[in-house]
Amino acid sequence: MTIAVENPATGQVIGTVPDLSADDVAAAARRARAAQPSWHALGYDGRAAVLHRMQRWIVDHTDEVVATICAETGKAYEDALLAEVNYGAAAFGFWAKQAPRYLAETRIRSSQPLVAGKRLVQRYQPLGLVGVIGPWNYPLTNSFGDCIPALAAGNAVLLKPSEVTPLTSLLLAEGLAACGLPDGVFGVVTGRGATGAALVDEVDMVMFTGSTATGRRVAARAAERLIPASLELGGKDPMIVLADADLERAATHAAYYAMFNCGQTCISIERCYVEESVYTAFVALVTAKVAALRQGVPAGPGSVDVGSLSFPPQVDIVDRHVSEALAAGARALTGGVRPEREGHWYPPTVLVDVDHSMAIMREETFGPTLPIMAVRDADEAVRLANDSAYGLCASVFGRDLARAEDVARRLEAGAVTVNDAVVNYTALELPMGGAKPASGIGRRHGKDGITKYCRQQSLLVSRLHLRRDVHTYPYRATRTRAIRSLLGLLNRGRPGRS
Ligand code: NAD
Repeated sequence: MTIAVENPATGQVIGTVPDLSADDVAAAARRARAAQPSWHALGYDGRAAVLHRMQRWIVDHTDEVVATICAETGKAYEDALLAEVNYGAAAFGFWAKQAPRYLAETRIRSSQPLVAGKRLVQRYQPLGLVGVIGPWNYPLTNSFGDCIPALAAGNAVLLKPSEVTPLTSLLLAEGLAACGLPDGVFGVVTGRGATGAALVDEVDMVMFTGSTATGRRVAARAAERLIPASLELGGKDPMIVLADADLERAATHAAYYAMFNCGQTCISIERCYVEESVYTAFVALVTAKVAALRQGVPAGPGSVDVGSLSFPPQVDIVDRHVSEALAAGARALTGGVRPEREGHWYPPTVLVDVDHSMAIMREETFGPTLPIMAVRDADEAVRLANDSAYGLCASVFGRDLARAEDVARRLEAGAVTVNDAVVNYTALELPMGGAKPASGIGRRHGKDGITKYCRQQSLLVSRLHLRRDVHTYPYRATRTRAIRSLLGLLNRGRPGRS
């Protein structure tokens, strides 16, 4: 059984990959488990050498990697270069350097008398075999990218890329092999949802990125096996424009981060709330910028601003959200009409006169749309921004930084940017993940982004001690009374203030 891979910008089939069965996945898992101990035994420096070579490999193979990503996603050259190749190369360098720091043993101090004089240590060990399951919107960043810290921690990794975009992962697997990654440590198991489900059955931990609905299924399956699952799911990220905002910058960011990657970014700006005194001016600026975007089949640097949608059914979702909004009284100031052409397309679209009864303001659209609403004040903007099952990222624009930051801190989102958007994702030191269940559980990046691939071990080493500790058998009334007095003294609480 094979799966045909299509170039969504042209509709042409560009390759086929195997649709692997549960038995195939089990065999890959056995190979990976056999290879893992020697990969772990290489230590941080040995693993970093391979990871640094791969960082260089990605840079040296930029043309090939970008071409593969563009061909299977339909995205613009710059979208692939900036958000994928750039991310992947940086991530290899980052995790090679930071893994030993984030996973360093820590000496723990305790005030408990029973452990006085003993050495307490918190340490991390790789889990063994990590399963990564990814979506189609960023085949390098959001599928393969999550394998990098797992490998740096000393795990073997099996990656199940989206059936829509598996070719990038296969190319990068070739790169890892060329860079000296021992055989079996990393494997790509191509296939559909059933292959992903089979992977969850084999691994010690699953890192899933994708839709909320699939995330729920993956979490349930992981729960049955009692293995940890880290879930990066959907978003409906709000942008708030305060009356004192630099409107030019706000409009540029709105147009860019709503349309970047044809709107198929989990942290795209998906809806916008603007204080009413600047609403008209902001809408005019954004509309002009979006209307000027060049959309088409990517053909190298600078050829187009916006590519096609990557996943054919996504066009139906975008079209439904826009059509329903228009039928309910919204207006499209640019775009808003599904074109008749080869491939899978929807034009960059700005909508006004929208409200929260419309799917376009509530459900993840994941397309090149920017619905904009006027709000009375910041309080109403915060209320509407928080009126969502999602809570991935959000952004606030305003010149008064104290006020803008105050608004940011009131938003129910895992990450919030002030006078910026989306670039927080590139700071690999800064944790990223959902603040509400529909956007996921767990974090990528930062210390949490690698400790999640490890099991923790706490060590207690007793060095200076009596032959028999006073609290042990046999129990004697005099000793018990003495211990009780001591406990009373230790736990007398802080002196209260009347
Ligand atoms: P999807 O949920 O349809 O598929 C994701 C992956 O899960 C695919 O590889 C698919 O084959 C696999 N899968 C399907 N059924 C499965 C099952 N039962 N068990 C195991 N695996 C299964 O998502 P998608 O349409 O590919 O991606 C788009 C979604 O991803 C959007 O909702 C987007 O917001 C989200 N996303 C989130 C982030 C983030 O960091 N939070 C990043 C990128 C994309």
